[in-house]
Amino acid sequence: MILMRICPREFKYTVFLSFDLDAESAEVYMKRDPVSMSFGRYSVKIGVKKILEVLGDHGLKVTFFTPGWVVEKYSDVVGSILGDGHEVALHGYLHEKLDQLELEEELLVFKKSISAFERILDFKPKGFRAPYWRFSGNTLNILFEEGFLYDSSLMDDEKPYILEHNGRKIVELPVDWRLDDWPHLEIHRLPPKMLLEMWMEELDYAARNNGFLSLTMHPSCISRGARIRVLTRILGVLEETEAWTPKGCDLASRIIELLGK
Ligand SMILES: [Zn+2]
Repeated sequence: MILMRICPREFKYTVFLSFDLDAESAEVYMKRDPVSMSFGRYSVKIGVKKILEVLGDHGLKVTFFTPGWVVEKYSDVVGSILGDGHEVALHGYLHEKLDQLELEEELLVFKKSISAFERILDFKPKGFRAPYWRFSGNTLNILFEEGFLYDSSLMDDEKPYILEHNGRKIVELPVDWRLDDWPHLEIHRLPPKMLLEMWMEELDYAARNNGFLSLTMHPSCISRGARIRVLTRILGVLEETEAWTPKGCDLASRIIELLGK
C-alpha cells in the first residue's frame, strides 16, 4: 500500500522536526582534545535553551535524539526538554559508530543506554536514531528485540513507512543528508541564508504535494549566533503553510494507524 497523505485533514503536509543532542559524547568516545569537547558542550550550555525558547514561541513539540551518556551527564538539560513536552529518543550511548562494533559491544551500547533512560528519566525510549546514521548488520534485529516503535536513520524513501523483518514491524521515519544542518553548516561552512534557501525550496515542494519532510538539526550547530534565525524563519513558514509537525512517537503511531493493518 502506498501512503499518499500522512497529515490529518486540517493540515496540508507533514514535517518531522528533530534535534540530535550529542553534547560532547562523540568527542569523549574518540578521546578528542578539550577544545573539540567544548564545541559539543555548547549545545547543553547555550544551544538547547535558545531552541526551546523558539519552539515555545511557536507552541511546537518535537523530538530530541539523545545518547544515554548525555542523559546521565546532563539530566537537568534533558529534564528541561521533557518538561516542555518534547520527546527524548535514543541516539547510542557515547555516539558510537555501530557498524564498527562487534555484536556483544553493540548489545552493551543498547543495554547501557536504555538503562540510563529507565533509571534517570523513568521511561524506555520509543524511537531510535543511529549516530552518524550508521547501522551494523545487527542493529535492526536489536531494535526489534528491544521493541522500538520507530527508527529514523535510513535514506531509502521520502515518506515514512513500515519496515518488516521476519514478521516483525518497525516504523521508519527516513532522513537525508541534504536535510541535515551539519554537513551544510559545519563541513561545507555555508552561510545560514543558503541553508535557509535550500530548505525553503524543500518545504515548498513538500507543501505543494501534501508530502513529508524530515529536518535534522543539532543544537551545537543550528543555534550558534545568527544561525538560530534559520530555525525561527522555518517555524514561521511551517505555521503559515499549515504544516503538521508531530513528535516522532506520534508520527509513528499515525503511520501504524494508516498502514499497520
Ligand atoms: Zn548525533
